[in-house]
Amino acid sequence: MSRKKSSSKEDIFEKYRKAGHIVAKAKEYIRPFVKIGTKLFDICEKAEQFVIKEGGKLAFPCNVSINHIAAHYSSPPGDKTIIKEGDIVKVDIGAHIDGFIADSAFTVNFDPDFDKLVEAAVDSCHAAIEAVLPGTNTKDIGKIVESTIKSKSSKYRPIKELSGHILDEYSLHGSKTIPNVPIPYGVKIEEGEVYAVETFASSGSGSVHDLPYGYIYRLLPVRTPVRSKGARKIISAVLKEHKTLPFSERWIAKQVKAYKVALNELVTKGVFHRYKVLSDKKGCKVAQNEETMIVTKEGPEITTTI
Ligand code: MN
Ligand code: MN
Repeated sequence: MSRKKSSSKEDIFEKYRKAGHIVAKAKEYIRPFVKIGTKLFDICEKAEQFVIKEGGKLAFPCNVSINHIAAHYSSPPGDKTIIKEGDIVKVDIGAHIDGFIADSAFTVNFDPDFDKLVEAAVDSCHAAIEAVLPGTNTKDIGKIVESTIKSKSSKYRPIKELSGHILDEYSLHGSKTIPNVPIPYGVKIEEGEVYAVETFASSGSGSVHDLPYGYIYRLLPVRTPVRSKGARKIISAVLKEHKTLPFSERWIAKQVKAYKVALNELVTKGVFHRYKVLSDKKGCKVAQNEETMIVTKEGPEITTTI
């Protein structure tokens, strides 16, 4: 991690805590809006505005993923999708202070048949957090997550492609991951590291695939020259406001009129990565739970709860 000379380790942890506190408050604020009849667009915008009002910056667009959609759905401009009876809704919110990130998600369920699926996500997340200690090998956490989820129902599975992840300065997904299924080799967790621990319980296959669309982007390290004025305007706005962190098509639409053409050009040229929406089998349900935590000798310090 690159550190400025002026920031001590403790200053950095304070920034992680501050970002965490903002996300914890944002989750409490947004929860009452997550109800049948609400537009996903309004949830995304309200949650993001709250983070900014509280003094945070957005670490990524607010995700609101429903039913078999596991992750990476954030409303595009003009999204009319509403929450319907029987939906299971994952809300994932991120904030950062000077690049030090908090990333946390919860699930609201409108189908009583799947209350246990939500419990599976929450309990497995907390079981994983308890195991994130200095010296733990990440492969052991995958076993804990899977067995906790399966203990709720033999039909439930963790989603194997999605994992917890280390957080670094302006980097949402660092080099270390925390698997949700048993894996043969892991890496050692060390004191002072910060992780987003996230688990996904599915009533479907436990595997996700890309849908052909997505509304979240990230700037890639490669710089290819682009000609169009719109595209150049987007790049400089992203460099200034989001750096290497993910951003939303909704945010760009507010700044550039012909944003669709420009974004397509930037993805084609390899300047931006487009995150596709991730889906399990249609008809199944997925629950998610996520908290950010600091690894300490005394045990996990969760930053994203009050
Ligand atoms: Mn998240
Ligand atoms: Mn995450």
